[in-house]
Amino acid sequence: MSIDFIKSIYYEIMSYFVPQKIKRRIEGNCIKCGRCCGQIRAYGMKSEKEFNFMKIFFPFYKYFYITGCFENGDLKLACKHIGEDNLCRIYDKRPNMCKNYPSKYVYANIEMIDGCGYKVIKKSFQNYLNKE
Ligand code: SF4
Ligand code: SF4
Repeated sequence: MSIDFIKSIYYEIMSYFVPQKIKRRIEGNCIKCGRCCGQIRAYGMKSEKEFNFMKIFFPFYKYFYITGCFENGDLKLACKHIGEDNLCRIYDKRPNMCKNYPSKYVYANIEMIDGCGYKVIKKSFQNYLNKE
């Protein structure tokens, strides 16, 4: 089990208790394209074994299946509950990670998926100096 994978478990657990770490501003709107449900990045998770392990502790991972991996080796997942109309078929029962997406408070400094209607506005050094 890699350090990255242990970190991903830690982040998953902490997301239930400490909902903030890095504050980002997000502008835009959801255009209901469904891209985020088909390109889920499993941070720090590099193998099917690790993915299966995650399913034991976080059952909502059973919604997902592996479609490949990102350039750094993180697994790329897709959700089996996305409909042909790109809408969630279990909307009222979707996991918290979906309800909170895109969260303004995250551990990792992530980017939005290409084509997403939201855009991350990063803080500049000057923003920090101005305490914005
Ligand atoms: S990728 Fe962005 S715009 Fe598309 S469904 Fe997800 S949040 Fe909405
Ligand atoms: S549960 Fe619904 S919102 Fe969450 S990834 Fe699956 S289709 Fe998307």
